[in-house]
Amino acid sequence: MRTFLRGLKRCAILSRVQILEEFVLSNNNNRVWLFREGKKELKDLLGGKGANLAEMTNIGLPVPPGFTVTTEVCTEYYASGKKLPDGLMDDVKKAVADVEQAIGKKFGDTQNPLLFSVRSGAKFSLPGMMDTVLNLGLNDDAITGLINASGGNARFAYDSYRRFIMMFSDITLKADYPGLSKEGFERILTDHKAKLGKEADTELTGDEWKALCDTYKVFFKEQTGRDFPSDPYEQLETSITAVFRSWNNERAIIYRNKEKISHSIGTAVNVQSMVFGNLGDDSGSGVMFTRNAATGENVIYGEYLPNAQGEDVVAGVRTPLEIAELERDNKTIYDELITNAKRLEDHYKDMQDIEFTIEKNKLFILQCRSGKRTGTAAIRIAVEMVNEGFITKEKAVAMVAPSGLEQALHPRLKNTAAGKVIAKGLNAGPGGAVGKAVFSSDKAAEMGKGGAGEAVILCSQETTPDDLKGMLAAQGVLTSRGGRTSHAALVARQFGIPTICGCSDMKTDGHHATSFSTPDGTIVKEGDWITIDGTEGIVYLGALEVEPAGQSGDFGTLMGWADEFRTMGVRANADTPDQAAEAIALGAEGIGLCRTEHMFLEEDRLPIVRRMILADNEEQRQGALDELLPIQREDFVGIFRAMDGKPVTVRLIDPPLHEFLPNQIELAKEVAVEQSQGKSDAAKIKLLNKVNELHEQNPMLGLRGCRLSIVFPGIVEMQVAAIVGAAAQVTKEGKTVLPEIMIPLVGHINELTYVKNDLERVAKATQGKEGTEVPYMFGTMIEVPRAALTSAEIAQEAAFFSFGTNDLTQMTYGMSRDDAGPFLMPYIAKEIYKEDPTVSIDTTGVGRLMQISVDDARSVNPNIKLGICGEHGGDPDSVKFCNKLGLNYVSCSPKRVPVARLAAAQAALEAKGS
Ligand code: ADP
Ligand code: MG
Ligand code: MG
Repeated sequence: MRTFLRGLKRCAILSRVQILEEFVLSNNNNRVWLFREGKKELKDLLGGKGANLAEMTNIGLPVPPGFTVTTEVCTEYYASGKKLPDGLMDDVKKAVADVEQAIGKKFGDTQNPLLFSVRSGAKFSLPGMMDTVLNLGLNDDAITGLINASGGNARFAYDSYRRFIMMFSDITLKADYPGLSKEGFERILTDHKAKLGKEADTELTGDEWKALCDTYKVFFKEQTGRDFPSDPYEQLETSITAVFRSWNNERAIIYRNKEKISHSIGTAVNVQSMVFGNLGDDSGSGVMFTRNAATGENVIYGEYLPNAQGEDVVAGVRTPLEIAELERDNKTIYDELITNAKRLEDHYKDMQDIEFTIEKNKLFILQCRSGKRTGTAAIRIAVEMVNEGFITKEKAVAMVAPSGLEQALHPRLKNTAAGKVIAKGLNAGPGGAVGKAVFSSDKAAEMGKGGAGEAVILCSQETTPDDLKGMLAAQGVLTSRGGRTSHAALVARQFGIPTICGCSDMKTDGHHATSFSTPDGTIVKEGDWITIDGTEGIVYLGALEVEPAGQSGDFGTLMGWADEFRTMGVRANADTPDQAAEAIALGAEGIGLCRTEHMFLEEDRLPIVRRMILADNEEQRQGALDELLPIQREDFVGIFRAMDGKPVTVRLIDPPLHEFLPNQIELAKEVAVEQSQGKSDAAKIKLLNKVNELHEQNPMLGLRGCRLSIVFPGIVEMQVAAIVGAAAQVTKEGKTVLPEIMIPLVGHINELTYVKNDLERVAKATQGKEGTEVPYMFGTMIEVPRAALTSAEIAQEAAFFSFGTNDLTQMTYGMSRDDAGPFLMPYIAKEIYKEDPTVSIDTTGVGRLMQISVDDARSVNPNIKLGICGEHGGDPDSVKFCNKLGLNYVSCSPKRVPVARLAAAQAALEAKGS
């Protein structure tokens, strides 16, 4: 239709012949693409699944024919108030005709009916987030055709029919008729089987399935007041609409938020001719990875179910067999599968996740995509592919997601020999996890991360995509059913949640269990501590100890390559010698931010700090500072020793003084109570008066940072004496010390000049006293927008700038992180802000200030060192942005140092265009 309109507009200028030619030649405007017309590069338009189905079709893999309705149609659907565009179904009919011709069956036919699957597929795979309708096109007439075409296999035909009735109802109509949920239909099936005295689905006869279909249809009519739709095109149109609608279901939205995928890109719909894995023992369905997705080992990793449609494998309702079974049962098909799988891996140059179905000894490939993997697996696969000569080091560095590295450093269980093993299952997501057993994802969400903050292990029969919220809140997941390729296991691995699946040792009483039992008679109730080892698949009773993982060989190799390509430095934010040591172990090249206020809060110092603040006169104040000096100096000695030869940026005291005093309201209450009892504690009243005096309406914008250094110079003078003194001492020990003294919150050049002049004097005096020169330097933090805008002045006085993007973001947005809660989440949900600017640098606003600052600073001081020390320094996207700005280094928390190293390498490779 749209193509047609565009054509009409051109009538005036083009001849009819030309228009016709355009219609025939350009496929670009089509809403519906046959698989053979697409290719893998068209993910934006055809979605990932559609683009890959097209690619596989074109390289000659056995893919059942079909077509894709584009993501643009999804956008049109929403833009026009949830309506399919005019004429879409005509395009669909044409595509159906093409498929009918290709395979010699007819849609809705009573002899040999063509059936379709209707599958969602966005640009990025959202595992399990959207729903698939199988066996579409069946009705009471077509069913005879299906029995016919399957050689009289009524059992198969009615099994397919009942699945269709259930899926179609659940997926397309549940929103309007909640009774039509899968669970409702499953309950009818369970009753039906119980009445027949049968347990496994495979035991039911054709007549028994037929009876179930009839019951389903009666149930449908009860729920909706109308007959189950029998017109195949009505079924198809309803299903296409349902896929578009499912783009905005809750679990899809949660997933996209979590993965920072835009809500506006929409999904495509794939309509594909059905092949049947439930035609007997020479049929089946499965999922495989070309390498082990949990460990990365180069062995086929997969599962399959004989005589079943693929839904059963991915939904995790039946525990499937290992793929090795297929090798034993049907070597020819197995070999063909492996050949195709390796071909795909070679074609895509990456580990592949492949869905396949065998119909009467014939293999079909239904999907391929880059396989989701754990951080550990990602590293091993990348390194081994280089060693196999399969890919370059650059590609290896580029293909590992930085965020996965933290997972590779996942905690491991310590001392497992001492633990009591109560059950074993499939090791679906590596890592050790300890927590209290909970039995529903709601409970997990309530008690766990994001809720009450307790450690919980989510225990359930199986996990469905609806459980995502609960899984993310849990330390670990334990299920009694489902395989390692169930969607839930996939999600668990992707988010690095230690997971055990298919743990049949664990017996629960159904979906609303409150406890589970194990073969040795152990009963675990809600709230009991358990430990799971997702690497080995073992469940322990009680809470075992965990320890951080070491850096394995492959990890070191990959990080080594990253360091080869990276041009930007990586430092860590560390306040103590322990943190400094951890940072170095993880590859930090210096400390980008050493905060000094934490040092003041330690128990032995706080009383002295308070005495300093409360001092009545200069003499008393200086007395307290003199007491603090040697203590503070020891802090720096420890850090300088640990950092031997590496630069350390020390930030002078930053927070307002009242942070070191008791809480105003509580103290006032105490004093009031005492006074009402006729007591009067002079010291306490004095303290309260001071607290009141220092109280600020808006401390973030109050007396802090360099303002404090100007009003109360004694504190920073003491700090600089401690820094330079410690540096001199450690230098004398034979180590190299490179202190960078950072003056915070500068917004005007005069602030910096004033403070720096005073502190230069102290530094020189200290050097003189120690008799040792130290290569100290003074610089500032750029965290006030005015500082960014006047960098050409400020840079003349500073040896370095460090972007304090936490405050810079708050001040640029005019919002305080502590008060942003009530509006920030709604803002992100409504896409007013695309991303949380406190997580990833807002490149257009805050980033622009940084760009101005960098350019102006370098123009007056070409040698100025530029870095970032806000929490953004460990966010991969922000690291890449900093690389673009040309910063000398990023600084982040020690644990994120590997993430930053890898992201910096990727940024350098992207900049080189490789
Ligand atoms: P998801 O995106 O949730 O993985 P899919 O669209 O891949 O959903 O469909 C789920 C399952 O349905 C597939 O794994 C496959 O086994 C089965 N399926 C989909 N299309 C077909 C088809 N044309 N023939 C047979 N089975 C199919
Ligand atoms: Mg799939
Ligand atoms: Mg700050």
